[in-house]
Amino acid sequence: MTAVLVLADLTPSGVRKASLELLTIARGLGEPAALVFGSPSEADIATLGEYGAQSVYVVSSPEVDQYLSLPKAEAVVDLAGRLQPAAILVTSGPEGKDIAARAAVRLGSGIVTDAIGVSLDGGRVTATQSVVAGQFHATTAITKGIPVVTVRPNAVSAEPAPASPTVESLEVAFSDAAKGATVTAREPKASSGRPDLTDAAVVVAGGRGVGSAEGMAVIEQLADALGGAVGATRAITDLSWASHDLQVGQTGKTVAPSLYVAAGVSGAIQHRAGMQSSKTIVAVNKDPKAPIFQISDFRGGRRPPRGAPRPGRRTRPAQGLTGQMTTEAPLRQGLPTC
Ligand SMILES: Cc1cc2nc3c(=O)[nH]c(=O)nc-3n(C[C@H](O)[C@H](O)[C@H](O)COP(=O)(O)OP(=O)(O)OC[C@H]3O[C@@H](n4cnc5c(N)ncnc54)[C@H](O)[C@@H]3O)c2cc1C
Repeated sequence: MTAVLVLADLTPSGVRKASLELLTIARGLGEPAALVFGSPSEADIATLGEYGAQSVYVVSSPEVDQYLSLPKAEAVVDLAGRLQPAAILVTSGPEGKDIAARAAVRLGSGIVTDAIGVSLDGGRVTATQSVVAGQFHATTAITKGIPVVTVRPNAVSAEPAPASPTVESLEVAFSDAAKGATVTAREPKASSGRPDLTDAAVVVAGGRGVGSAEGMAVIEQLADALGGAVGATRAITDLSWASHDLQVGQTGKTVAPSLYVAAGVSGAIQHRAGMQSSKTIVAVNKDPKAPIFQISDFRGGRRPPRGAPRPGRRTRPAQGLTGQMTTEAPLRQGLPTC
């Protein structure tokens, strides 16, 4: 069976959950082969095997730490040259997309970023994206080279499929160009103890309706009670009520948790672009006409307006659109008050 190359991320607490999701997707395309950087522990290898990695390639050269993303991209290209995989899967995120884009250029491959699904269609790798603030799904067939796809965290559930992977150390001859920018210092960010925003299964987000920086304490308490991450709108990160790295949206982070609680968030299209793929959305807003209620599953606040649509998800057919855009994404409107 053809290999599918998965770039797996290691964290101090083990293999990143998003990488296990990639392995789950990879199993539908071929035989998962994981590429990891650094020094994976036995437990890391076992976890990769538990989620279906048939082989694990380890690049532990100091270059991957000393320089920016180019050595990692070159390692991906090197391994892709050896394996000729059916696809290369990378987790969406600033570094992942950087590596994926550089690898795709060097391989002469087509690339799709921020996919929410990857499948085989008639032998071709196709990637599905959630576009136009989540109102449409766009499906793209990658026709050139080894398809490179970056996949959003939480797009699928990681499902175990135990395997006993072979482990191979990979020596890569890095180019001079890859060593063009040296990392001179790394300063770990103070940890909030909460899950990473892009990986979290639960996100509680505050908007201007929280009233003040102090109002965000309630959001944080709820996030902690639910074991979730804290998110924010751009309005309040601009006001310094929350830090910029918590911003969700078009110019912030993209999240797709199982539960997204939006408190005092109007639901501007730029915010929705970053959270509309969440599986369940709970919105709390005093304005019954706030746009966030157009996509929420449950609502809190004042009573819904008289004549509001009855509960239940709807799928609205696309009109006047052709090609590969389909309205598979539900438009969630007028749902129950909680
Ligand atoms: C190019 C561009 C990119 C952008 N990118 C982003 C982005 O990435 N992310 C993002 O979030 N925004 C982004 N924005 C900004 C976006 O357009 C909105 O301005 C912003 O999302 C609004 O934030 P908000 O919902 O907190 O504030 P507001 O729009 O002011 O909404 C506050 C809401 O709180 C409600 N409220 C007030 N008091 C209460 C109360 N006591 N109880 C309950 N509800 C209450 C109000 O009814 C209102 O709906 C971008 C804008 C542009 C132009």
